Amino acid sequence: MLRWTDAHNHLQDPRLGETAPIIAAMKLAGVSHCIVNATQEADWLAVENLTTDERGWVSPAFGVHPWHAHTVTIGWVKRLKNLLVEFPRSSIGECGLDTWITHPSLEIQRPVFIEQLQLARELERPVTIHCLKAWGALFDCFAEAPPPSRFLMHSFGGSMEIAQRLIPLGAYFSFSGHFLHPRKSAVLEVFRQLPLERILLETDAPDMLPPLELLSHTLPQNHHHPANLPNIGHALADALAKDPAELAAITYKNFRGCFGF
Ligand SMILES: [Zn+2]
Repeated sequence: MLRWTDAHNHLQDPRLGETAPIIAAMKLAGVSHCIVNATQEADWLAVENLTTDERGWVSPAFGVHPWHAHTVTIGWVKRLKNLLVEFPRSSIGECGLDTWITHPSLEIQRPVFIEQLQLARELERPVTIHCLKAWGALFDCFAEAPPPSRFLMHSFGGSMEIAQRLIPLGAYFSFSGHFLHPRKSAVLEVFRQLPLERILLETDAPDMLPPLELLSHTLPQNHHHPANLPNIGHALADALAKDPAELAAITYKNFRGCFGF
């Protein structure tokens, strides 16, 4: 059985329901390691608990997602730093910028993102970045607070021109199964051009559902089951004209390189 790595999911999300059967299905499908990303202060404890329960299989990312930038409370940076120190194999995420949504505004998102970039630099931790329709603002933030030497652009939907600017900075790019929808073929084209040594795989479960015909596992209300990762890997391998075993090995190596395992 091939060994797959999920660079980005949200196993703590209550929409997935009971976690134990989800994790059992992932292991049975060949998922050997995953990064579980927090999205706001309110779910840091749940991510912490999953890490403790699944030591070595779950690695945590603690952070504040741009959609929740307005929810931070006094002292959040200090609490985030404490968690990162307590979990030496943790990274920062999910954080970033998003103008696809209008609330919270970019003015509210920016300082929260910059704090996390600064912390990533200070502790030399990788950071997982969500960037949706905010590329100019992303590079503005990088000018103010340079990213750490390795970072993951998750569900990367940017152009090759954007990727060319990010690669020298240390960017890795994770491919989400949602991009297998025919209307997203431009993203697949970008992944065909990206350097292989910078590509990772992710589910972003319970979001970013792949096309229904590619699903090995389903959940109520069309939530994305993270045990679909091997199918996403096979479909990307097909699109890149690679052997699935080769893509599994490459993305495993890149996962370890990006997150410093
Ligand atoms: Zn996510």
